Amino acid sequence: MSGIDTLPPLREVIAAHGLSARKSLGQNFLLDLNLTARIARVAGDLSGADVLEVGPGPGGLTRGLLAEGARRVVAVEKDARCLPALEQIAAAYPGRLEILNADALEVDWAAHLTPPVKVVANLPYNVGTELLVRWLTPPDWPPLWHSLTLMFQREVAERIVARPGSKTYGRLAILSQWRCEAKIALGLPPEAFTPPPKVRSAVVHLTALPAPRFPADAAVLSRVVAAAFNQRRKMLRASLKGVAPDIEERLRAAGIAPTDRAEQVSLEGFCALAREVAKP
Ligand code: SAM
Repeated sequence: MSGIDTLPPLREVIAAHGLSARKSLGQNFLLDLNLTARIARVAGDLSGADVLEVGPGPGGLTRGLLAEGARRVVAVEKDARCLPALEQIAAAYPGRLEILNADALEVDWAAHLTPPVKVVANLPYNVGTELLVRWLTPPDWPPLWHSLTLMFQREVAERIVARPGSKTYGRLAILSQWRCEAKIALGLPPEAFTPPPKVRSAVVHLTALPAPRFPADAAVLSRVVAAAFNQRRKMLRASLKGVAPDIEERLRAAGIAPTDRAEQVSLEGFCALAREVAKP
């Protein structure tokens, strides 16, 4: 199922409902429905999935998701001004769009979704990284969601897919790549948005792996990686001193030189270190 809907053009929707973009809510809207359909297609076949969309705004991406055949879309929008525009979309796709007027950081979205679940969002930049980290660190793995297709500032997208040795390699790369396949699917210039943001954007696609690439306790790994990259220019024997008093021995046992810096250590290396740190 594909094709643009028969609802009014988004510029008309925005004018009709007085949806002037608010910076405080990270509002940069996508008005080109061909582009929103393209973003929806990055998430793959949606026909058998419930889609969680955070921050639908006037509904450009929501319309793309529904036109591309999503079984259901649950859209969480904080700005009540957007509700009439979203309700118009719900009426055009009976029974397929549930709108939650809520803060995505507080709502119990899982209660509204039936697996398989795909998350697709042009995220508000001010809460994007926080939401990603929450989605990547659920209590159980595999998570409720099957994939995440998310718009970020290009710089954040690069941190998600970064490899060891690069300046952007850090906690976000490790959290993302430990239990997901992560790639940048699409780059977008500022002019793709209304109003245009100052920076370039990119759509990242993450697919949940059935199990982590390397064994490690999630909380220990997270603690080790946070400490290592918090002082990324220091040698690990110094930056990780607070993690364990005998950290040099544990680093060696994990096959890591205590004089190495965080950005030299692979994902496999950090997992080995987390296992060593977890030992009594
Ligand atoms: N998806 C729309 C599009 O592509 O045109 C709008 C994207 S805009 C970058 C981000 C949207 O997220 C805005 O509609 C904003 O009101 C909403 N938003 C901001 N903070 C939010 C939060 N904490 N919870 C839910 N929605 C939020």
